Amino acid sequence: MICLGIEGTAHSIGVGIIKSKGERCEVLSNIIKIYRPEKGGIHPREAANHHAVYIGDLLKESVKKSGVDFSDVDLVSFSKGPGLGPCLRTAATAARALSLSLSRPIIGVNHCVAHLEIGRGTLKGCKDPVLLYTSGANTQVIAFAEGRYRVFGETLDIGIGNCLDKFGRTVGLDFPCGPKIEELAKKGRKYLELPYSIKGMDIAFSGLLTAAEQYYKNNESLEDVCYSIQETTFAALTEVTERAMAHTEKDEVLLGGGVASNNRLRDMVQKMAFDRGASFFVPSKDLCIDNGAMIAWLGVLMYDSGIRMEIKDSFIDQRFRTDMVDVTWRD
Ligand code: AMP
Ligand code: MG
Repeated sequence: MICLGIEGTAHSIGVGIIKSKGERCEVLSNIIKIYRPEKGGIHPREAANHHAVYIGDLLKESVKKSGVDFSDVDLVSFSKGPGLGPCLRTAATAARALSLSLSRPIIGVNHCVAHLEIGRGTLKGCKDPVLLYTSGANTQVIAFAEGRYRVFGETLDIGIGNCLDKFGRTVGLDFPCGPKIEELAKKGRKYLELPYSIKGMDIAFSGLLTAAEQYYKNNESLEDVCYSIQETTFAALTEVTERAMAHTEKDEVLLGGGVASNNRLRDMVQKMAFDRGASFFVPSKDLCIDNGAMIAWLGVLMYDSGIRMEIKDSFIDQRFRTDMVDVTWRD
């Protein structure tokens, strides 16, 4: 089966085409275009306008790169949520238009679950992981239990990516700031004490963000502040992930989301896995960030398990939680 997936939950619009081979996913093409605001954060309407401008070309380019034709596409899927309303609606509208014009079925999928399934679909040996999902808006520790992907821990305020981006914006770095902070952190030497707020299995980042901004204003070196932010936030994320693994007795950990590109985060989680005798998995970077291929792959899993969606039911859901999805394609 060949599926074309459209991602559009926030800053990125993406089109991915995948071919399913039993339980494995072969990515034929996966193209994204990122909306970068000139200043300030992401304005939902402006991001949606950006997506509307580029989606047509992205569709053509993705099909061209994949080596298949539009007529070879068996299924169209899109990110139903969670995300920013105007962005989600733009991606869903494109998916509906394509589904109708090709006379192919449509399916709306949960973006967070897609981040997990793309790891299981593309990484050998990755079968039943605890997912540490670290992206711009979302930060969750997810694992499968009794028919659902359960959220074992999550951020109580902002996502880890937003925390990095907000700090970066304050100190004058360009969006996305995570990669720049990673570079600066490599040169940091002094650890500055930052609030480490874990409540039960949940995490909060905004207090840490304020404290980090304060250090910078008080003339601590930017490198040291970046280093301290990474050490503190990543340690907290790793701790919650380890506790979820202990609780669920799972011996695989998977990273997903844009922040999973960060080598320091990868090192910390990998070391934790090694110490527990567990396996560590991380998808290729183009499959970690928000992308259409993961949306396409989850579409196939759902469709193959018998799920069907009519165009009239293909609405979006800005607050579509991970644990609302009935996982019919695995046990
Ligand atoms: P996503 O929302 O999953 O596409 O991820 C986007 C987020 O990932 C943004 O907040 C980026 O700043 C962050 N990001 C991307 N690369 C890195 C990196 N190397 N280190 C830390 N954060 C990163
Ligand atoms: Mg994401």
